[in-house]
Amino acid sequence: MNNRRDFIKTISIGGALTAIAGTSVIASETNSKVSIKDLDTGLQLKICLQEGVAPGATLTEKLDFIEANGVVGFEVWGGGLSERVTEIQKALQNRKITLGAICAGFKGWLIAQDEKNRKECMDTSKEILAAAGALGSYGMILVPGFNGQQPSFATVEARAMLIDQLKELGEYALQHKTTVILEPLNREEAWFLRQVSDAASICRDVNSAGVTCMGDFWHMTREETSDMGAFISGGKYLNHVHIASRKTRNTPGEDEGDNYVEGFKGLKMLNYQHHVSFECGSKGDKKVVIPAALKLLREQWKMA
Ligand code: MG
Repeated sequence: MNNRRDFIKTISIGGALTAIAGTSVIASETNSKVSIKDLDTGLQLKICLQEGVAPGATLTEKLDFIEANGVVGFEVWGGGLSERVTEIQKALQNRKITLGAICAGFKGWLIAQDEKNRKECMDTSKEILAAAGALGSYGMILVPGFNGQQPSFATVEARAMLIDQLKELGEYALQHKTTVILEPLNREEAWFLRQVSDAASICRDVNSAGVTCMGDFWHMTREETSDMGAFISGGKYLNHVHIASRKTRNTPGEDEGDNYVEGFKGLKMLNYQHHVSFECGSKGDKKVVIPAALKLLREQWKMA
């Protein structure tokens, strides 16, 4: 997979430019002064909806809505997932929808002082990872510790403890052809991990292809100084994104001034190939506000 650095290198070679972005190949005569901005990278915005976000009374109705609106990803809750594998596999049959991620659902926490709580997190996460792999999900979202989960280790010890356990969990995930996706949250929920750069730095130190990270626009609104900077700081480790309206965590576009262009620019710079997944409530009728959100995001992706 090309990353942005390769992309820039390709350009700096000059002459006939061949840039590979995803599956599309762009070849054009150009001079060495061409800027990234002028290039249509052909990079697709791959939208994903969480199960609770998609309207519909049944899994089939939800997936029908998703497909009818050109959405390509689906994200389900991890709790009880191992009992749902067959149900979900059947529902996804003959559809062009993949599982972008499994959202949490584990018990316990990895930075707990008590070994019992850490083990509970390892055991329940492994069960979810095995199901995630069976379903072809890119990964399972994991939060190392919420503020309310106490007693937890303080930062230095917590980080070392986390990295040790993530090495094991990452290898387990790889055996099941999936990954662990660390999610930074805002300070009201989790002081321990608030920024994409820190999540990526933990991934770097774990040094396993089975441990990656994500950014959630909702939390980023609170914690990051720049959407673009935050995503870029995730680098190759950034492999999932959550999105919501920026003031009230509803459907994108339901808050005045909802803007994701700078963040999308960052994703394009990373040659981001993964999903942007709706994790949000809604003020209006979902069958109206979600299609409107898709239109808004597709426009903003083009602008980025
Ligand atoms: Mg999230």
